[in-house]
Amino acid sequence: MVKNYMEVLVDEIYEEVRHNYNPCECENCDDNIKSIALNNLPPVYFMSTASEGEKKAFLLDRQRRITVLAALTQAKELLCKKCNSNKSNKKMRETI
Ligand SMILES: [Zn+2]
Repeated sequence: MVKNYMEVLVDEIYEEVRHNYNPCECENCDDNIKSIALNNLPPVYFMSTASEGEKKAFLLDRQRRITVLAALTQAKELLCKKCNSNKSNKKMRETI
């Protein structure tokens, strides 16, 4: 069973940062954001000979985490431009 570790990393980081994003009302956004980000990131598969340490090092690599975070943020902005602008327009109107 092969596993794309980039997917594991995207899942992990998305869970960490999703609360910082403006909450979005569309239900599919979570998965779509991850899908777009993953399309922009190279897939990573480990050979059966790779150690747990190597896998862990991959998931903890600081520079890689920054890259993944950037891909997620970009995907979120792209995808939710519409849903968020609808919402923030409403919010803005409420504050006037
Ligand atoms: Zn959205």
